[in-house]
Amino acid sequence: MAKQHVAILGLGIMGSGMASRLLASDFPVTVYNRNPAKAAPFAKAGASVADSPRAAAQRSEVILSMVADDQASRDIWLGESGALNGAAPGSTLIESSTLTVPWIQELAAAAAGKGCNFLDAPVTGTKPHAESGELLFLVGGSASALANAQPVLAVLGRDVIHLGPNGSGALMKLINNFMAAVQAASLAEAVALITAGGLDREKALSILTDGVPGSPMLKRVAARLSSGDFTLNFSLRLMAKDLTYALSEGSRQQLDLQTAAAALRVFKDAIDQGFGEEDLSAVAKSSRELRTRRY
Ligand code: NAP
Repeated sequence: MAKQHVAILGLGIMGSGMASRLLASDFPVTVYNRNPAKAAPFAKAGASVADSPRAAAQRSEVILSMVADDQASRDIWLGESGALNGAAPGSTLIESSTLTVPWIQELAAAAAGKGCNFLDAPVTGTKPHAESGELLFLVGGSASALANAQPVLAVLGRDVIHLGPNGSGALMKLINNFMAAVQAASLAEAVALITAGGLDREKALSILTDGVPGSPMLKRVAARLSSGDFTLNFSLRLMAKDLTYALSEGSRQQLDLQTAAAALRVFKDAIDQGFGEEDLSAVAKSSRELRTRRY
């Protein structure tokens, strides 16, 4: 069977990895990025480059967006040059960015109005997983839309979990990331206490990572702290965005997510200290200032 034509909208850390993976798997790919400079290397690798989301959608049967936040997603899908304006009826639209549930539901309704299939399919995994097809897709939408998307998702991911109707994938992703962020923030505070109390930091980190607090997230951030390698995989600013979105979803459900609120304060402190564009693990680097500013 001929491979589906795929559009990748957004060539940031994750979108660029996904586009590379599809090209390496011989899918016909059209890419679009707001800053066109990021698209140039993909033309060399065999992709078509579109000058608008609409033009990319017009050439594609499966259209996948991977951009920063709700506003970026609105800019990609809506308006005269938006992807919805170019998508043919029957095409399959996939929103893989981490976004709010109300925006996903609004976008799903707009896609249905155009006769398109729509999935929210945010991912767990980070830069290396996007490049190697090891993402985990958390999917909301109909079974038939998922069946249409399956050949593309199978190349990009190690697994696909169908959680329910549109919005379910987005909700699960916000829950996943707020818990991950709480763990990273708790390590930042632990490091402040370790330092203030004069403990050996490496001994303390190894006790924490080998013991019950040693979740994969704690291990990842502690390893970054020990090696001093804070190479950007997922920006601290975007993790703060996910906490904000989780808190707004909590409010919509009349839930006060107190640990998410506390973690957001720690992440905002780190952003105020200039760590926003660094890897989220840099939250642990902010602990010294956190200690001196708080007490
Ligand atoms: P990134 O490297 O910062 O890239 C962001 C992308 O969004 C860029 O292509 C950027 O275009 C585009 N963008 C931002 N504002 C826009 C706008 N108003 N209109 C059009 N495009 C816009 O982010 P990323 O790490 O790839 O993350 C992308 C999404 O995946 C986010 O929702 C993030 O939360 C989620 N996510 C990330 C990871 C990770 O490990 N990195 C893991 C799971 C999920 P320009 O190049 O023109 O600025």
